[in-house]
Amino acid sequence: MKTKIGLLYGGKSAEHQVSMQTALAVIKALNPDKFTIHPIYITEEGRWVKGNELNGPVEELKELAFEQGEALTPTALAPTLFKASDEDAGPFDVIFPLLHGPNGEDGTVQGMLELLNLPYVGNGVLASSAGMDKVIMKNIFAQAGLPQVKYVWFIRSEWKKAEEAAFEKVETEIGYPCFVKPANLGSSVGISKCENREELSAAFEEAFQFDRKIIIEEGVTAREIEAGVMGNDDPDCSVAGEIIPKASFYDYKAKYQDGDTAMMIPAEITDSEYAALKEMAITAFKALDCSGLVRADFFLTKEGQFYINEVNTMPGFTPFSMFPLLWKHSGVEYPELIERLVQLALERHEEKQ
Ligand code: ADP
Ligand code: MG
Ligand code: MG
Repeated sequence: MKTKIGLLYGGKSAEHQVSMQTALAVIKALNPDKFTIHPIYITEEGRWVKGNELNGPVEELKELAFEQGEALTPTALAPTLFKASDEDAGPFDVIFPLLHGPNGEDGTVQGMLELLNLPYVGNGVLASSAGMDKVIMKNIFAQAGLPQVKYVWFIRSEWKKAEEAAFEKVETEIGYPCFVKPANLGSSVGISKCENREELSAAFEEAFQFDRKIIIEEGVTAREIEAGVMGNDDPDCSVAGEIIPKASFYDYKAKYQDGDTAMMIPAEITDSEYAALKEMAITAFKALDCSGLVRADFFLTKEGQFYINEVNTMPGFTPFSMFPLLWKHSGVEYPELIERLVQLALERHEEKQ
């Protein structure tokens, strides 16, 4: 029997296009002898549309961006997806949520899938939501003893009440240069590097446009080293990779528009640096109670000090993205990577029953 995969992609977030490209790549890579693919497209306006089972090759993105079909809201989706009992075959055996950012990577979709009792690829509700909020994530990492740069955070109303005090707190506890970020975003959206009070003030304004909570971090001059972690209770770590940004930092444009940010895989680090990185990446995975996959991102200073920057619970997943390339260099090709993730999703679901 073939495994029926519901591929959930698109979405309202800034990463709609990235998600589309990923969906296309995943469809092309899945073995048709083992899987059937059922697209569920979320339009840029946030409408959910279920398409028919794909039974031919898909070559172009526009074939995936269908707007006609069974229109679904997440709640109206329930009766369509719900497997009433084990004997009742539902339309899908497993959902692959290829969504990034808020409403996709943050536990909301995962919560819906939990309610529907459907297996799904990747992190559960807790890891997804904790991983989306940089403050909560860092607090958990601190508790797990992972090295991090100094940070403080504010919610908008606190800042409105006492702007001057907020800036003074940043200057005394963090200093310049610092990075100001919305707490709940990805793709470098709303992030600024600040060298003085004037830039700090503008950066607060900017970051608060995207979120009611922001985080301010000590800016470090460091290499950016990343590792992929995959598994459930006993996860594996990939080789390390390095991001070599051409811009002053790895901003949205560098990530998605220029396409010329170089990646070096494996990263040129020593064996003992790799050993330390691997241990931290797995510690981070466990501290957040992750499942399936995570990309763990680190800074490595000239002095050889690692700091964990963040984890991404649904990292970029096209065949040219860091996470799949890290696994390719670790001996796991893209089609096999997808199959493993599906398998991990089914195993985790089984364990929960
Ligand atoms: P996102 O979740 O949007 O990817 P990050 O926290 O990874 O946000 O920040 C995006 C980029 O900004 C990083 O890849 C790095 O280039 C730069 N950056 C972020 N925080 C710092 C910091 N504390 N010091 C130096 N560079 C930073
Ligand atoms: Mg991120
Ligand atoms: Mg990042």
